[in-house]
Amino acid sequence: MSSADRPQLAYLTDALNELKQKGTHFRLRVLEDQQAPVCHYDGKQVINLASNNYLGLANHPELIEAALKATRELGVGSGAVRTIAGTMKIHMDLEEKIARFKNVEACVVFQSGFAANAGTVSAILGKEDFILSDELNHASIIDGARLSRAKIKVFRHKDVAHCEELLQEVANEPGRKLVITDGVFSMDGDIGPVDKLGALAEKYGAIMMVDDAHASGVLGRNGRGSIDHFGMHGRVDVQVGTLSKAIGALGGYVCGSRDLIDYLYHRARPFLFSTSHPPSVAATCIAAFDILEQEPERIDRLWENTRYFQRELRRAGFNVGGVNTPATETPITPVILGEGRLTMDFSRALFDEGVMGTGIAFPTVPEGKARIRLIVTSEHTRANLDQALDTLERVAKRMGILQ
Ligand SMILES: *Cc1c(COP(=O)(O)O)cnc(C)c1O
Repeated sequence: MSSADRPQLAYLTDALNELKQKGTHFRLRVLEDQQAPVCHYDGKQVINLASNNYLGLANHPELIEAALKATRELGVGSGAVRTIAGTMKIHMDLEEKIARFKNVEACVVFQSGFAANAGTVSAILGKEDFILSDELNHASIIDGARLSRAKIKVFRHKDVAHCEELLQEVANEPGRKLVITDGVFSMDGDIGPVDKLGALAEKYGAIMMVDDAHASGVLGRNGRGSIDHFGMHGRVDVQVGTLSKAIGALGGYVCGSRDLIDYLYHRARPFLFSTSHPPSVAATCIAAFDILEQEPERIDRLWENTRYFQRELRRAGFNVGGVNTPATETPITPVILGEGRLTMDFSRALFDEGVMGTGIAFPTVPEGKARIRLIVTSEHTRANLDQALDTLERVAKRMGILQ
């Protein structure tokens, strides 16, 4: 069926043609084996620098065993939403495990980090309230803020003084105030000022919320996240994390007080209206938190690889951020080219030479700040990284990106 027979959706075809003209249209690359440092996309072997599998847990043998065992014992599906009949003991076990790990009273797991953010922000605030949100916060926070119908005040990236100005502007309004930041920003890899924003929230009696999707498993003791990194235990009301990145499986969670979690049971719409995880996913995640405690050397290797890779990229002359964009402080490594089409062409040329690095352009990042985003993992060998660095430099020189 084409838009010639069904003109109703022809405008979508027009929009796609516009993307193609700008050079920012993409096709999905298809992974044919495991999410690993070296793997096959679209029939080609590549060094994979595009995944969020920071610690290699997506294919850790103990996690695979845990998933298989849970499937054999408990089946493949939970059969219902949590509030009807779909709360299994293994879901509760996972939540207790995360709460203990994060040093909080309670935890609730959602189907994804996206659902955790969107479901929580929209549940705890209403249209009389105010959300003070960093301009680079994740899309799921923005969507949750919109769904809540609260008034949204956006502060300049990591600009605590600007956040305070906005808090002062609304200080006499009756609504509640929520200050929200990413712990690690997903496109630039810089760390949010969780300590300063937390103190500011306390000063103004605002709720403090942190989205630690890219910080969990990466920052803090044994990967406890940005709250641990900054020593902010007990001072962040709502902590969101994901089970889809460093943890290696799928899901999101909210940590906080017992009453916050109980309230979300009653009001968070993804919790109420979408089926809970299969037992295999819960079992996988439980095993993953054990690995964080038992194999901290994975996190050490992640940081060693990060330091080496970023130093070598800078040495080669790449812009890895920090000039007109934030400077990375984590394994997320943007290689900034600026122009969307050039970025996409560079990404494709790298792929043809055996390096997977995804091009990211407007609207995911601001116009003029297109980049390929690279993420090293604990499981890349020095040889993998050297080969990738060599390819990046060679292709960049050929395309006139580097002198
Ligand atoms: C990836 C990400 C999410 C969403 O997590 P999923 O589990 O993939 O849905 C939320 N917030 C941030 C900052 C992220 O990077």
